[in-house]
Amino acid sequence: MKFLFIILLFLSGCASTTLNTDSGVSRQQLLLLPKFMANSMAVDAYKEAIKNAEKNNKLNNDIEQLNRVRTISYKLIDEAPVFREDAIEWKWEINVEDSEEVNAYCMPGGKIMVYSGLIKKVNATDDELAAVIGHEISHALREHGRERMSTALLQQVGIIGFAAYIAEKGIYTNAAVQAVALGTTLFFALPNSREQEREADKIGLELTARAGYHPMAAVSLWRKMSELSEVDMPEFLSTHPSNENRIKDLSEHAKKINSLYEANKNK
Ligand SMILES: [Zn+2]
Repeated sequence: MKFLFIILLFLSGCASTTLNTDSGVSRQQLLLLPKFMANSMAVDAYKEAIKNAEKNNKLNNDIEQLNRVRTISYKLIDEAPVFREDAIEWKWEINVEDSEEVNAYCMPGGKIMVYSGLIKKVNATDDELAAVIGHEISHALREHGRERMSTALLQQVGIIGFAAYIAEKGIYTNAAVQAVALGTTLFFALPNSREQEREADKIGLELTARAGYHPMAAVSLWRKMSELSEVDMPEFLSTHPSNENRIKDLSEHAKKINSLYEANKNK
């Protein structure tokens, strides 16, 4: 039984999570961790994040800010099925947490969190906010979290140990506490790879252009970000080879995708 399970894991392992679109992203991905597991870990980790924010009185305190973030996010989410049809069935959630941190994330399955520091410290315009949220949504559409979890589990536990681990704890018994801890650790502790960042940049540009947001805003946003002090530097900048290269790549792709924006800008 255990052996069969391992074979199944391998067979389901290689695929591209998103459709071929204008972004040109089509890499085959190693996805050993079953999708339902990655998503249920994300649901639990997100619940925990919400619970902690609420407890500290830091959740959705500024209604105007929350409405702004939700309006932008829903416009982007409307375009998500272009990249994968099942996105229409995802249980999307969008919240804003009061924090000095300049950051945002979208967990597997569409659980979005924007930190107020991102909006305030860079004084983000709607187009710029769409650029960050679009980038984060793209990580989720592309299932980069599940990909990272798969790689990490393979490296750290080994495939046999991993199969034993889920057989023992993950699926068949209720080890909710361990699962939350594992999901949180895997999602937050493992940075996206550079390749994943490039993919999220490209898909993010297309997503924002389709939603009617100016793709060049990604460039102005990352410029603003790169002027932040070291302390405020978010994860998605630190994993890149250099900001200048990223800004150059973003400008080139933004130009390529500009006709999509022109066609959708009055949305
Ligand atoms: Zn990223």
